[in-house]
Amino acid sequence: MLLKKELFDFEDINKMKFFPGIINIYFHELSEENFERIIRWFVKHKYRFISTKELLDWYSCDLNYKGRLCHISFDDGKRSNRNLLKLCDMYDVPITVFVTTSALHSGNFWWEYVKAQYGDFEKFKSFDYDIFNGKIESLKKKHTINRSSFTIDELCEFAKNPHVTIASHTVNHPILPKVPNDVLEHEMIDSKEELEDILGDKIEYFSYPNGSLGEREIKAARNYYKCAFTTKQKYPSQTDDIMLIPRIALTGQYYRNLLKIFKIWQPIKKLFRFFNL
Ligand SMILES: [Zn+2]
Repeated sequence: MLLKKELFDFEDINKMKFFPGIINIYFHELSEENFERIIRWFVKHKYRFISTKELLDWYSCDLNYKGRLCHISFDDGKRSNRNLLKLCDMYDVPITVFVTTSALHSGNFWWEYVKAQYGDFEKFKSFDYDIFNGKIESLKKKHTINRSSFTIDELCEFAKNPHVTIASHTVNHPILPKVPNDVLEHEMIDSKEELEDILGDKIEYFSYPNGSLGEREIKAARNYYKCAFTTKQKYPSQTDDIMLIPRIALTGQYYRNLLKIFKIWQPIKKLFRFFNL
């Protein structure tokens, strides 16, 4: 069975006989067509889209709204996210985009170089930090890749949209539990400060790259941010630690995993069919 223990708590599934009251989803990049289909599904089922600020209000029981809620975020800072803004405007969808700041300068993310060389990058996530860095630096010299990250100008323009909240996703997108203490501080603080300098606005939210974290990372996030997002695939609960906010990844691979769950979770089965994924 594909179902991994951390994918969903069975307790949650039992509660989900009907549509969840709140759902927190995230993407990296997706087509306008798929984004619109997803938005329209939530609109059809009477969900209201909320910003991260409103999500925090919900966590503190200050959000005065009794209907269904949906929070959407994007990790990494892909320039293709710009294409989705007109849909955010059209359907009044706030989004939070977690940006990796080194890619604003270099144009790309480390895994793109690994993919160019090996096709897959999963193995790299387990490397010790020094080995990881050495290999990535040599791959960067070897491959030229089309820019996939925002430029600084593009990010400034994107952030002007009132539906957009920009947040931090570290400087280099390392696997945080693998990095030494001083590098962890650099990754957490310098990404925040650079985004604040670029945008002239406070950066208050964080998402853990690859969802990788331990006690040390949670403590650091708590020092610098109001809340932090994980990749724990479950629904938000008001008892969550807001440094460990769960999110459901709507990706092709995830849907395949969910197939096992769909038998007992009808609304999402319909979602799956609707998106044709
Ligand atoms: Zn990421």
